[in-house]
Amino acid sequence: MTHTSKIKIADIFHNTDPSLDRQLLEKADHCRRQHLGSAVYPRGLIEYSNCCRRNCFYCGLRRGNSLIRRYHLQREQIIELALQAYDAGYQSICLQSGELSSSKEVDFIADVIRTIKGYRSKNSGQGLGITLSLGELTYKQYRQLWEAGAHRYLLRIETSNPLLFQKIHPPEQSYNRRLECLDALREIGYQVGTGVMIGLPGQSYEDLATDLEFFQAKDIDMLGMGPYIPHPDTPLARQKTEFIPDAFTTTIRMLALARILMPDINMVASTALQSIHPDGLKLGLKAGANIVMPVLTPEDNRKDYMLYANKKFSNFERLKHDIHEAGYELTLWQWGDSPHYFKRQGLLTTDYAPTGDSTCSLRSRI
Ligand code: SF4
Repeated sequence: MTHTSKIKIADIFHNTDPSLDRQLLEKADHCRRQHLGSAVYPRGLIEYSNCCRRNCFYCGLRRGNSLIRRYHLQREQIIELALQAYDAGYQSICLQSGELSSSKEVDFIADVIRTIKGYRSKNSGQGLGITLSLGELTYKQYRQLWEAGAHRYLLRIETSNPLLFQKIHPPEQSYNRRLECLDALREIGYQVGTGVMIGLPGQSYEDLATDLEFFQAKDIDMLGMGPYIPHPDTPLARQKTEFIPDAFTTTIRMLALARILMPDINMVASTALQSIHPDGLKLGLKAGANIVMPVLTPEDNRKDYMLYANKKFSNFERLKHDIHEAGYELTLWQWGDSPHYFKRQGLLTTDYAPTGDSTCSLRSRI
């Protein structure tokens, strides 16, 4: 992205004309239908532990928050949730936890992954696709989990501005270390996802334009972005958002711009988006998102997995209804991998035709 394009993008965020939102949604929808069709793929989200060794200033799971009840699901519980999702037609799950980097923890989840990958549904010959979101681990640990059978990894940079990154994390967490992790994941062969929060204290529209440039430069396969929603029991909640007054509208614009700039990546309609606006899911999809992450975490544990305040949950029927109302189709029994990944691997050389399962047939590993 040139300097001029970045200024133009920042200008879009500054512009308060509502007709601009309509134009952006139309353009994003056009790009998405051309490159990905109307499919929306679910990733059943299993938040298997809210324990975390980190202390990010914005997150309700930070180790310094003594007001939450910590939990860690048992091996059998995770496997059962995954297989229930599988038999219901979700062909992918996302295993998420706080950052737990001991070898005991990584061995634990590698064993869970191997067990899940050993199953085959009677309705689908392929195994369950597994995305991980477990934070910063060592190269060796990422490789261990890849060899166990995971093939996608989400690691949000949260902001591509190194100074802002340092303001929202304690000194022991480094921007460069996060970049090294993203590079390691790509080198190992994962489909790599990242993302940012929108509306952080101290964040500017120019930062968001730089974020888009960062995603392109990193050639990412998947993107997860959501509005920053303060959690009352965190240090960042005491700071004001000075420069981005409407995080929801800005997030929708950011999604639409991302879809226009990166038409073949997978992009999530985040739960945060759904949590701050009744039509958050529908608008996120119209802005180009093609992935949803229904929460499968047991009801008893959900209230303890609050990265931000007032997290909302949609049941399957509501999700299906909203996707249909937005003009798209909830697509079961397919992995729905990012076409961009196959293109950068040289496995998809012609323009992707959105026929539904062509990504599955080109998958390099199951
Ligand atoms: S953002 Fe992730 S690493 Fe940071 S405190 Fe929350 S769960 Fe832990």
